[in-house]
Amino acid sequence: MKINISNLSEGTHNYEFEENPSAIELDERFSKQVIVRVEIEKRRRQLFLTGHVKTAGTFCCDRCLDDFEKNVDVDYRMTYVYEKPDDGELEGSPEEGDEITVIHESTNEIDIAEDVREYILLSVPMKLLCRDDCAGLCGNCGANLNRETCVCPKSDIDPRWEELKKIINKN
Ligand SMILES: [Zn+2]
Ligand SMILES: [Zn+2]
Repeated sequence: MKINISNLSEGTHNYEFEENPSAIELDERFSKQVIVRVEIEKRRRQLFLTGHVKTAGTFCCDRCLDDFEKNVDVDYRMTYVYEKPDDGELEGSPEEGDEITVIHESTNEIDIAEDVREYILLSVPMKLLCRDDCAGLCGNCGANLNRETCVCPKSDIDPRWEELKKIINKN
């Protein structure tokens, strides 16, 4: 995912990449081709990059342990700034919160693979659910309550644990 910037004219440039997930060192959860659309706005001393990244993965539900497929769609921005601007002035300023990468006069190409990989991984939620209302597994018999109903009594719990159960069920 390399972009040649050595003779880039000022203005907007578009690129598209398609890559195997393993080629950018994503783990085996990621199953679909990674498609990246990139827009670069070149100014004299800066490059403003916007990336639109799409792929999909197979993840394990934290609640019912089933595998499910999930699309991964993430946009990111990166500003490349040439070090030591000759006149000490930056035209335009990166938006707050934008990531900045310093590049050198001699930099001929930028490789976005590492950024793409990172933004994909960051976009995977900490808590993975096959669906928002996943019913999970029965704590007693292990039945997958999305698919079956078990005969375990539902309220055999010591009332003193009831509060704790509420807390757990919130997660
Ligand atoms: Zn689930
Ligand atoms: Zn059960």
